[in-house]
Amino acid sequence: MPDASHPTPRQLDVAIVGGGLAGLYAIHRLRSIGLKVRAYEAGSGVGGTWFWNRYPGARCDVESLEYSYSFDEQLQQDWKWPERYGTQPEILKYINHVADRFDLRRDVQLNTRIKSALFDGKANEWTLTTDSGEQVRARYCVMAAGNLSTPRVPDFKRLKDFRGKWYHSGLWPHEGVDFSGLKVGVIGTGSSGVQMIPLIAEQAKHLTVFQRTANFSLPARNGPMELERERTHKAEYPARRRAAHDTPFAIAGYPKPTKSALDAPDEERNAAYEAKWQEGGSISYLYAYTDLLVNKASNDTASEFVRNKIRSTVKDRQTAELLAPKDHPIGTKRLCLDTNYYETYNRPNVSLVDVRSDPIEHITAAGLRLKSGAAFELDAIVFATGFDAMTGALREIDVRTSDGPNGGAVLRDHWEGGPLTYLGLMVAGFPNMFVVTGPGSPGVKTQMIASIEQHVDWIADAIDHLGKHQLDRIEPTPKAESDWVHHVNQVADSTLYPLANSWYMGANIPGKPRVFMPYVGGFDRYKKRCDEVAAHGYEGFSLTRHAIVDA
Ligand SMILES: Cc1cc2nc3c(=O)[nH]c(=O)nc-3n(C[C@H](O)[C@H](O)[C@H](O)COP(=O)(O)OP(=O)(O)OC[C@H]3O[C@@H](n4cnc5c(N)ncnc54)[C@H](O)[C@@H]3O)c2cc1C
Repeated sequence: MPDASHPTPRQLDVAIVGGGLAGLYAIHRLRSIGLKVRAYEAGSGVGGTWFWNRYPGARCDVESLEYSYSFDEQLQQDWKWPERYGTQPEILKYINHVADRFDLRRDVQLNTRIKSALFDGKANEWTLTTDSGEQVRARYCVMAAGNLSTPRVPDFKRLKDFRGKWYHSGLWPHEGVDFSGLKVGVIGTGSSGVQMIPLIAEQAKHLTVFQRTANFSLPARNGPMELERERTHKAEYPARRRAAHDTPFAIAGYPKPTKSALDAPDEERNAAYEAKWQEGGSISYLYAYTDLLVNKASNDTASEFVRNKIRSTVKDRQTAELLAPKDHPIGTKRLCLDTNYYETYNRPNVSLVDVRSDPIEHITAAGLRLKSGAAFELDAIVFATGFDAMTGALREIDVRTSDGPNGGAVLRDHWEGGPLTYLGLMVAGFPNMFVVTGPGSPGVKTQMIASIEQHVDWIADAIDHLGKHQLDRIEPTPKAESDWVHHVNQVADSTLYPLANSWYMGANIPGKPRVFMPYVGGFDRYKKRCDEVAAHGYEGFSLTRHAIVDA
């Protein structure tokens, strides 16, 4: 029932959940085909990831000339990125600029969390209910709620007793945090931990890093934007963006590898890895040979090269061995990029604690205690513990339908054993609900803005197609969905990815089904498939006019 303070539900063509890069582009693109749209954003500003993740050192790890929108040529020509990899404030400034430049704000409702989404089959519309009880009706719903937008704070006993302050990297205070003179503990050594640890170490009196899993990190080689490089890149922008569509990671400009790592003599291979190490960046490194992500023996050579770099950088042998990852092949978890990460462990005020062998038992008033009884006094604790990735944001919304072949369907139930989608774009039994870069799509394995644009364009074209053919309902057939899920699994199983306990597998969340969620067949193959599906009259989808369906 509508809340008394919101008696008349708002009527839209498309309701969008999320005001990050995906939600904003969806507003722009869907408006361009004449639709009445509105995005609902839980935060008090637009920007999504870049609004929330304000921890020290937060920046993108795909170069900014790539990690930016491509939909408007003048925008990409005008914007100047000061550094090779934009900082969080710079990226947030850019997103705000886009929101203003394309007049997007008037269709964003901030400070509004969508709590439920109910599809009424008879009315053929979605009703979304916000945390204040407001109801919004829309023919279509676009979930642009993010893959890394549900921060995960481990369920530590007695966290509330802690006398100091604690923070999560994905919920960072807007006013910033001054760690000067403090004893700080950072829990987690994934991408966020790797970015923040060198900077917190410079401020803190003492920094203790609690590591459960060592992750591979490569040097970013960040620096001021080279003007000549920027000029050439901008001169070739449209061609480069097109070329990116023909690559697996949606990033152009890296020479395609031509041979297996095992076909190169040791000396040649080490020289190749060294050149990539000096160049900086993760794509370049993983592109050194054709088979680094599919052949364990090949991958071992690339992994060992980085382990040796860690050993030669970190002076304390025991610390170096702890930092050198041995439980997963390089690239099968999100590969981190850093500035002085390993060097930081040579500082006298930094220590590393292995909480794999001696787990954190509980938080105390004064700090934390390990299972062995070892206690650490801390003034501040930083959780760099990541997110309930890929499905977290959607699982937090009560998504259901009021009717269907088996009665109403509930998304959480449908996904109980792991997420099921067709092309990562739609879910069988949930008509007219689209997901941007969802599980089953290559989104998180690519330059994500390219994937966001490709998804939103596909969604806009599908809605436009329905309108032009006097149709008003689209949903995948159960067969198309199960075939796609099978294909996603098959492709994953032909790679090394499933060997890692990664967030791609849901492995960072206790109780979450262990299913490999992204499509790793490559952006190029995926986009081609999406284009073919559309060209063949939306193969695998059922497109209907609901009045006829109901008759
Ligand atoms: C620290 C960090 C660094 C990253 N660096 C890179 C990079 O270098 N390259 C790259 O390709 N990708 C990177 N990513 C991934 C990044 O998430 C994407 O590139 C991109 O920002 C995703 O945009 P989005 O709009 O899809 O999702 P988000 O930016 O996550 O936005 C989703 C929004 O939806 C809102 N929301 C969620 N649920 C609800 C609800 N129920 N009601 C209302 N609002 C809701 C959230 O508040 C959030 O603002 C990074 C991620 C992180 C966390």
